[in-house]
Amino acid sequence: MAYAASQDPVTGLPRFAAQEDYLREAMTEALGRGSRVALFYLDIDRFHSVNETMGHSVGDQALRLIAERLRSQVAGFGRLSRLAGDEFIVVVAYRPGEFNPLAFAEQLRRRMEAPLAVLPYSLYFTCTIGIAEFPDNATTPTDLLNCAEIAMARAKRRGRNTVEVFNNEHAAELRDRMALGGRLRDAIIGNELVLYFQPQVNAQNGRIVGLEALVRWQTPDLGLLPPSRFIRVAEELGLVVQLGRWVLDAACRQLRAWLDAGHDDVLVSVNISMQQMLRPTFIEEVREALRASGVPARMLEIELTENAIGESETRLLETVTELKALGVQLALDDFGVGYSSLSHLKQFPIDKLKIDRSFIVDVSTESDGAALARAVIALGHQLGMAVVAQGVETEAQLGFLRRNHCDLFQGFLFGAPVDARDAGRLLRHRYLLPGAFASTRPDRTLLLVDDEENVLRALLRLFRRDGYRVLTASSVDEAYDLLARNHVQVILSDQRMPQVSGTEFLGRVKELYPDTVRLVLSGYTDLATVTDAINRGAIYRFLTKPWNDDELREHIREAFRTHAAAHRPET
Ligand code: C2E
Ligand code: MG
Repeated sequence: MAYAASQDPVTGLPRFAAQEDYLREAMTEALGRGSRVALFYLDIDRFHSVNETMGHSVGDQALRLIAERLRSQVAGFGRLSRLAGDEFIVVVAYRPGEFNPLAFAEQLRRRMEAPLAVLPYSLYFTCTIGIAEFPDNATTPTDLLNCAEIAMARAKRRGRNTVEVFNNEHAAELRDRMALGGRLRDAIIGNELVLYFQPQVNAQNGRIVGLEALVRWQTPDLGLLPPSRFIRVAEELGLVVQLGRWVLDAACRQLRAWLDAGHDDVLVSVNISMQQMLRPTFIEEVREALRASGVPARMLEIELTENAIGESETRLLETVTELKALGVQLALDDFGVGYSSLSHLKQFPIDKLKIDRSFIVDVSTESDGAALARAVIALGHQLGMAVVAQGVETEAQLGFLRRNHCDLFQGFLFGAPVDARDAGRLLRHRYLLPGAFASTRPDRTLLLVDDEENVLRALLRLFRRDGYRVLTASSVDEAYDLLARNHVQVILSDQRMPQVSGTEFLGRVKELYPDTVRLVLSGYTDLATVTDAINRGAIYRFLTKPWNDDELREHIREAFRTHAAAHRPET
């Protein structure tokens, strides 16, 4: 029994609990000699997916091999033990200058990437390591372990397969954990939590379509705390489940109140942490919150974070599918900064992608940022999802995102999160920033190119009636200039012009502005150039002069529809 208590039967390693005395002695000794002790907290990334998909016996074998590999690396430097599950601890006592903890951790990390032969499989693992040091970071074994764990958890959030050294930021987190952790449980029961709501608006006209519920903690002594101060603490203390339940209930109660005030077409989204989502009772909690409030499921949206996908896939997919069956909407939060694999993402019945704020910050100033944002929007649409831009702060960003067919916006430009009363007031007005939407409206712009002024005038009259913004160019050079300075969707060009033919001109435009829909309006037809232009995809329609007004208008309408269909998600 003594052996079983101190040795781990799966890996044959000592358990960390049995190593604490050793660690304490090492610390005392180090203090006497002016030397140091480094503690490495090593966690295998996504290990549970092995247990889930291949079974526990494969999982155990993998752990055994991982332990063997670590043992050979640690031998001669320090002590290795197993903390729990897929977590290992390495303790190294050293004299300053004789050992480099960061370099050592990097070696462990890199070695972990080599494949493991668990026959008949070849398994690939990575690991995340947090480092804490005595005497810099902590003075007791438990604190040292906590520090290393916090560094490890932070590294995980930043994307796994990395090493992180405990630093000042972590120290602040640790202080919060100690100062706030003990009070959080009472705060949840004692109703110190409040929900704030941030509007989400339609990209067409600024109409509020939904509100994201964001929790705050109203403390008697420290003021209103943002979630960044206590969500992690709650997660670490296992309180996030209780907290999440409170949020879910409170959001549904608020929805009920808005429903009673006549708002039956508003969505409230709730952030759910993975710990809560993966609990077997989660679906029941959602069902119960909806039942108790009598709110239709379609008015509730659940946000999961991108990093969640890929963690416990099978389980999560089940949960998400059940939520979908309930009629709840699903959004993927902070998209773009996580590491979800696109092929997995496709399996999830998600309605919305919320692009992370970091992609939005520089869209209007830096071309790389713009390209990335555009790619993410296209990706979301390709997967059949609506795309939400988070953290929209300026009209320039708004203009860019609207031109690039983003569907919904959220951000300080429309409003910071506000309490329920103010949110209710916003809902009554319903439209935010109408001015900005009018000035950045993605006009339907038609460019007419013809060297005959009277033709241009006639066409201009015709198309203005249909509400397009019409630009005219009497030469190809003028047309290029207008294209560079305006967002043009449809071009109607004469065929016979002094410098080049219409088909040649449009062939070049196709290269420069592939998104445009291009038509030729010609008084003469040379079959060879027409067929050639059509076959190269340079032109969409070849129309002849004299024209029939109604038919021509219909062709142009059709051209705008074609353009829109190519740039909007299917709904
Ligand atoms: P999130 O889900 O990404 O929420 C958006 C955060 O961005 C909010 O911060 C919001 O105030 C902030 N934000 C919105 N627009 C702008 C903008 O234009 N510029 C800038 N700089 N920031 C903007 P908040 O309320 O502090 O929430 C932070 C995070 O805490 C949330 O990120 C969410 O992940 C988490 N959280 C909030 N409420 C809950 C909750 O009830 N449960 C759980 N599990 N997590 C929550
Ligand atoms: Mg969110």
